[in-house]
Amino acid sequence: MNDRVQSKVNLHKKTIVPDVTCEICCNNPETANHIMFECSFPYSFWTKLGFQLPTGQQVRELHMIPKPEHVPAEHYAGLSYYAAGNFGSEEME
Ligand SMILES: [Zn+2]
Repeated sequence: MNDRVQSKVNLHKKTIVPDVTCEICCNNPETANHIMFECSFPYSFWTKLGFQLPTGQQVRELHMIPKPEHVPAEHYAGLSYYAAGNFGSEEME
């Protein structure tokens, strides 16, 4: 899934963008993991929803993020799916 997310790192490899710096924090390369978990905005988003992101969370392991206690099990798959913006949706079914 990492190569399917149109991160600046992937776009730079295709010579579509000139640099890989994240435009939100201006401090790190914009990889799929950075967009989804590491940058300040997505990290705040996940934590406000009650998710405890494991250190080094990887996009390809999105389905393994521990379920917050307040989220009923029957709604967890749908919540994490939509919270992730449906990246790689066919892989998550
Ligand atoms: Zn950033």
